[in-house]
Amino acid sequence: MDIGYPELAVGDAYKSILLIDAALGHSSNLGWQVRLQLGMKLWYPGASDDQCFGQASINSLIGIIQPSAHTVIAKSLIYLQSYPECIAMCQLTMGKFPDWTFLVEHLTIARERLETKRILLDRLGITEKEKNQRMRLGITLVRPYPWMPARFLRREQALIDSLNEELETWGPKCKIQPSSFKPSIPSHIRGINTIPESMGMFATGLIRKGEQVFVDTTPAGFSLRNVSLFCGNCCDNLPLAPVALECCAISLFCSTKCRDLALAQYHSPMCGRDLNWVYIDFQSPPTEIPDFRPPIFLRLLAMCIQRGVHPLQHPTIARLVPAYTSIHPEGWSLHGNIYAPIMILEAFGINIYTDLRFDTWVLQTMWWRFKNNASAEVTSEQPIITSNPFLSCVNHSCEPNVASRFGSGTTAGLEALREIREGEELFISYIPLDGMQKVDRRKNLAPYFGGPCSCTRCEREP
Ligand SMILES: [Zn+2]
Ligand SMILES: [Zn+2]
Ligand SMILES: [Zn+2]
Repeated sequence: MDIGYPELAVGDAYKSILLIDAALGHSSNLGWQVRLQLGMKLWYPGASDDQCFGQASINSLIGIIQPSAHTVIAKSLIYLQSYPECIAMCQLTMGKFPDWTFLVEHLTIARERLETKRILLDRLGITEKEKNQRMRLGITLVRPYPWMPARFLRREQALIDSLNEELETWGPKCKIQPSSFKPSIPSHIRGINTIPESMGMFATGLIRKGEQVFVDTTPAGFSLRNVSLFCGNCCDNLPLAPVALECCAISLFCSTKCRDLALAQYHSPMCGRDLNWVYIDFQSPPTEIPDFRPPIFLRLLAMCIQRGVHPLQHPTIARLVPAYTSIHPEGWSLHGNIYAPIMILEAFGINIYTDLRFDTWVLQTMWWRFKNNASAEVTSEQPIITSNPFLSCVNHSCEPNVASRFGSGTTAGLEALREIREGEELFISYIPLDGMQKVDRRKNLAPYFGGPCSCTRCEREP
């Protein structure tokens, strides 16, 4: 925490609380193992069994570890500006342990800072809904973790080849290849070799105005719609006779294509498990923007476990690059970024303590990759958040030649806005342009790029 990774410290502290809870429960195998380890910590030459492994000795050690783990969480939540979660955690914990008065200090700081944040947000003139969202969420800076192995940073040629092979079915008139598109790199990460070569989508033949360039169906998407009434894969409307699974009744699908995609990519770890709590935020008409993290983590983690690969090497995630070039912090929540993925992994039978493929830094990086490449249609009646693999390969321009079109689900189409010649790069606009001036476009594009947009239009306009 003190060296600048509060979002990771909080994950470790939460896991240590789970271990202590197991030790206090006495009954589980894990609990006995934790008690044994704690006893070993108390061992010294000549110590009696009772001094190391006796109930009283171990409980007194737990009496030191337990409050310090909670302190790490409280302090980290303040660092991460997740004040409502800090307040809730302190209140809940003090309800359980009334003599832990050291938490009062963190509770007071969190309340004061939340008030300051409210005053600052009031001045921004944003909508009430957005204000509530920003009050509720914490923030963290998107940056590469220095210990990340180089193999997780590159987009291997094999990955690009497999994407292009897939594209032959969904968009035979385009191809992914190196692009001249260059995001500028902010000074805090300059010199770190983390930015893979830019890739872009190129026309392989003449595309006429209005033509559909590709259809992009993704399993990595989620809609705000009530999950039980819509397709379990693409969130589109269910037909009168929806397609069911033979193994369990957790989802219905709009088509055999969606069902087969679910079975092939992510259903098996979820099969037969009750994971409804993941959608709790989405059950009633939302008064606030709900947290998309739990359902997205559910889908992404299930995909990695079913394929048996490291999350950062799953083709859906490996192809995405986080916004390392941005100095804009990304939203963060204890529930969405820590509790939910850990509970999902436990439900899937992953050992969260020993399986380092799913360490907190990996989960965090996964989320950043997804979020930076997600298309969110939050303004529509049925808001969706989705990372469409082909769409995420299309770079930005303030004079786009293509536009994305979403149906009612997470499937995205790409439509040509004008005639596009063979070899031309396809560009969409990441922001609604609506006659916006260069200065406003620059402001709206800031979260995507480290510096100003350098598209042909921005270069041309004064
Ligand atoms: Zn579907
Ligand atoms: Zn099943
Ligand atoms: Zn531009």
